[in-house]
Amino acid sequence: MSSSNDFAGFYKLTQTERLQKLAEYAGLQTDDLAALNAGLSADQAEVMIENVIGRYTLPLGLATNFLLNGQNFVVPMVVEEPSIVAGVSYAAKLARAGGGFQTSSSEPLMIGQVQILDLTDLEEAAAKLMAAKPQLLAEANQHHPTIQKLGGGAKNIECRPLPKTPAGPMLIAHILYDCRDAMGANAVNTAAEAIAPLIEQITGGRVNLRILSNLTDRRTARAECLIPVEQLSRDGLPGDQIARSIFEAWAFAVADPYRAATHNKGVMNGIDAVAIATGNDWRALEAGAHAYAARNGRYTSLTEWSLVTTADHRPIRHSLWSQGEPPTAEFTHLYGVLDMPLSVGTVGGATRAHPTARVSLKILGQPNARLLAEIMVAVGLAQNLAAIRALASEGIQRGHMRLHARQMALAAGAKGAQVQDIADKLVAMGNIRVEKARELVAGSK
Ligand code: NAD
Repeated sequence: MSSSNDFAGFYKLTQTERLQKLAEYAGLQTDDLAALNAGLSADQAEVMIENVIGRYTLPLGLATNFLLNGQNFVVPMVVEEPSIVAGVSYAAKLARAGGGFQTSSSEPLMIGQVQILDLTDLEEAAAKLMAAKPQLLAEANQHHPTIQKLGGGAKNIECRPLPKTPAGPMLIAHILYDCRDAMGANAVNTAAEAIAPLIEQITGGRVNLRILSNLTDRRTARAECLIPVEQLSRDGLPGDQIARSIFEAWAFAVADPYRAATHNKGVMNGIDAVAIATGNDWRALEAGAHAYAARNGRYTSLTEWSLVTTADHRPIRHSLWSQGEPPTAEFTHLYGVLDMPLSVGTVGGATRAHPTARVSLKILGQPNARLLAEIMVAVGLAQNLAAIRALASEGIQRGHMRLHARQMALAAGAKGAQVQDIADKLVAMGNIRVEKARELVAGSK
């Protein structure tokens, strides 16, 4: 692969020129390029879900400028919403100016839950399960030799007593399962089902559910970035003023769940788009992200932003803003962190079965599951920065409405060059509605 710095000005190219550049960069062959447009065949769709009546297509875009731990990436994203790919590429460029993203991830440990009822003493049952841990792990590991051979498999058992539920007391056994490069839902569910009879035998209780948890707080990825404030200046607004506005925007999300929901939706705009491009289960990621955002009892921001000095990156907001006063000390950088559950795979599920997902993984350089999670968390942090930077400076509508106008023109039946022409007219009139677009299309016939 060549350096992804070559992607400067990618958005100005035609689609054919973009494909040529990408093919050179990622070593894509003719069949890979065909898969980018053709997607899933009717036969493949037929075996993927039930009652298939067709296939549904979405745009696949390429986010540029990503630098992670010194390595360049371009990132495939599937999404229908305008501004996301452009915004994330711009934010990645800002982060690049401060050395790019530093990323890390935990071991790919998922949690399988086994619900045990009809117990007279939860503590006693938990102690019995703890004493039988080696036996339980051995039983769980019998069923997935491939993952075990790769160093994964069942690693630990933990117990969660729930003394008060609408159905009375119950004990939940957690099986911690290292999924290696798989998302692992099927492997974890198999393991949870496999140990259920043994759990009943050991505790004398009755097992009901045996299923993975999507709150994958043992399988997390983290990205950090440090942006020199002067990089943030735009349209005559100084960088330090925009940095403060970004910090204030983040503080709003920390304090208010109404804002946090939208703030985190921005994070997931990026993460879901990469999940879809790579054939991963974005509902699982959504569930994990929002549950994690509420882990301390109140729903809050998934990201953290601080105004820092370069000397030691120590956030100065705690000392200066705790009294409600704006910072007076000099800060030089905006520092961002996103640390969240990310259970994604590069084998299994649709990752290899979907032809476009297979090519997306090739564009990413065939990452393992942990690297894919790290790329995704960096995209999530960049997306959050793009959104709050736009909101805190020129307002999100300006750029967004330009792209939205093109969609209105398309919806009104505009074709070819007429799409941009009508979009420009809608923006100039400040009336970006499909009815107006229809009038313009009709008028140009
Ligand atoms: P999978 O069942 O296809 O399993 C992956 C397989 O890949 C394993 O059987 C393993 O033997 C093999 N493998 C080869 N190389 C490997 C490597 N390096 N690391 C790990 N495994 C390797 O897929 P899965 O990941 O178990 O399940 C994912 C699917 O399950 C997704 O499609 C998801 O939508 C679905 N699902 C999700 C939920 C949920 O999130 N609640 C519930 C049920 C199913």
